Amino acid sequence: MNTELTAAASNNFLKTIIDEDLKSGKHSCIVTRFPPEPNGYLHIGHAKSICINFGLAREFGGRCHLRFDDTNPAKEEREYIESIKESVSWLGFDWGEHLYYASDNFEQLYQWAVFLIEQEKAYVEDLNAEQIRAHRGTLTEPGTNSPFRTRSVAENLDLFSRMRDGEFPDGTRVLRAKIDMASPNINLRDPVLYRILHTPHPHVGDAWKIYPMYDFAHGQTDAIEGITHSICTLEFESHKPLYEWFLDNLPVSVRPRQYEFARLNLTYTVMSKRKLQELVKLGIVSGWDDPRLPTLEGLKRRGFTAVSVRNFCEQIGVGRSDSWIDVSTLEECVRSDLNESAPRVMAVLRPIKMVIDNFPDDLIEESQAANHPQNPEMGCRTIHFGREIWIDSDDFMEMPSKGFHRLTVGGEVKLRFGYIIKCLRIIKDGQGKIVELHGEYDPASREGIHTADGRKVKGVIHWVSASNAVTAEVRLFDRLFNDPNPDRGGADYKQFLNPNSVETLTNCKLEASLAAADVETRYQFERLGYFRMDPKDSLTSKPVFNRIVTLRDAWNKK
Ligand code: ATP
Ligand code: MG
Repeated sequence: MNTELTAAASNNFLKTIIDEDLKSGKHSCIVTRFPPEPNGYLHIGHAKSICINFGLAREFGGRCHLRFDDTNPAKEEREYIESIKESVSWLGFDWGEHLYYASDNFEQLYQWAVFLIEQEKAYVEDLNAEQIRAHRGTLTEPGTNSPFRTRSVAENLDLFSRMRDGEFPDGTRVLRAKIDMASPNINLRDPVLYRILHTPHPHVGDAWKIYPMYDFAHGQTDAIEGITHSICTLEFESHKPLYEWFLDNLPVSVRPRQYEFARLNLTYTVMSKRKLQELVKLGIVSGWDDPRLPTLEGLKRRGFTAVSVRNFCEQIGVGRSDSWIDVSTLEECVRSDLNESAPRVMAVLRPIKMVIDNFPDDLIEESQAANHPQNPEMGCRTIHFGREIWIDSDDFMEMPSKGFHRLTVGGEVKLRFGYIIKCLRIIKDGQGKIVELHGEYDPASREGIHTADGRKVKGVIHWVSASNAVTAEVRLFDRLFNDPNPDRGGADYKQFLNPNSVETLTNCKLEASLAAADVETRYQFERLGYFRMDPKDSLTSKPVFNRIVTLRDAWNKK
């Protein structure tokens, strides 16, 4: 192994395995697959699996298939298939010609089930689900054989083909493998292979009245596709003997091998598709693409970049022990990407108007502001300064607390890319609410933070010219849950919902250059964080911006 690979492999044990398989000649080309069930939208946990499977294929010059494990039509929909394809592409991976559906193999799987019956390794079961459960035994006690286990091959073949023909109602019969009801591994106690389901299928329509179980479809589909490394999460470890039993007992020509890794667990969120779906159905979030969700559609809409998600997956590595990743790790990945790439602009979220009394009424001064402090190649934009500007109400205190270095009555502050200004008076309405501030600017102070007479000003604030500001809605997101592990066993995760997970500000003032903002660009609003125009809710007359992430991790200091 070369040293470069050793370093890269250190946080991914699968790289070591594949490297050895290629060196030993066990495989000349590796083939992996990402096998989602199209029963929901993909989430950040799936991103880990996508990056592993597509990433390994890319790194080792192999290929990765996108395969829909679509064996349960009761829960699967076309809409999910389309969204999954889009999310994988968005993450930057390409399956090329290798888009597959487990359901494309239904005929072959059926023939293999017939083969098992002929070999006396499968039988039609008439017990119902509850009786099957009762016969299964427990972790400490063996199961008992079904009275139907000894059916003749002929009777089994007849019943199975009539199941296929739709002769029997749902739930009345199943096909089971005949393995070992006393096996210490419950998955080997005559697992169900086929069930009757008179439900049309999103990919193959109403061709089938029986559907294979996941376990009967998965490994065989791997074999049909010529998968070399079948990579899945640890909960499938106990299914591996069954995966191998099928490969041992069916006439497959290639022999994939299953490897398990620890799934991604992320704090302050839930990831199971069932729970995500519940949040959507109950209207707790606005949809599968709600920017607070860990779905890839949600992260994308919020403004996360694909490269930041890939970097996150690379950084967390691939191991075999279950661990928790703090969501701040993900946030830090997008922050460091956007710190490099996001143009800087100014925006005022909670505006107060400031009138510069000594500035000419009819004058608008233009100046150039750098789009990125460290990267001159990103150019400049024009900003304007006039008699009326917006400043953030957080930057003004009537009764300043100790250490407050921004604007106060009688105090001075430097405007970013602009003058030093001084506040002289406050205008309030009848309720005592501040309506406007009045003050003056120092014409000699345009450059630097020193005035002509050498006095220094401590605070620098952002601002926006009132003459041509763009009014926008801004959505500030916080974590959806206020507990690091809302999903912990026993508790209802919904009790941990953070009631303040989104704050919507409807009268924000953005600098004029943002009139030309596009949804692809992520901006740094100086001092406030990274933002992206919402692709769904923005109107030409009123854009909506999502805060992707703050500039610093404020949460850990709370
Ligand atoms: P969920 O439990 O969230 O509904 P799932 O495992 O049922 O997810 P699948 O569509 O079966 O979803 O998953 C496709 C692939 O993604 C599988 O190989 C699965 O192991 C992997 N995967 C799902 N969740 C995670 C996760 N949190 N971390 C890593 N891989 C995951
Ligand atoms: Mg699943």
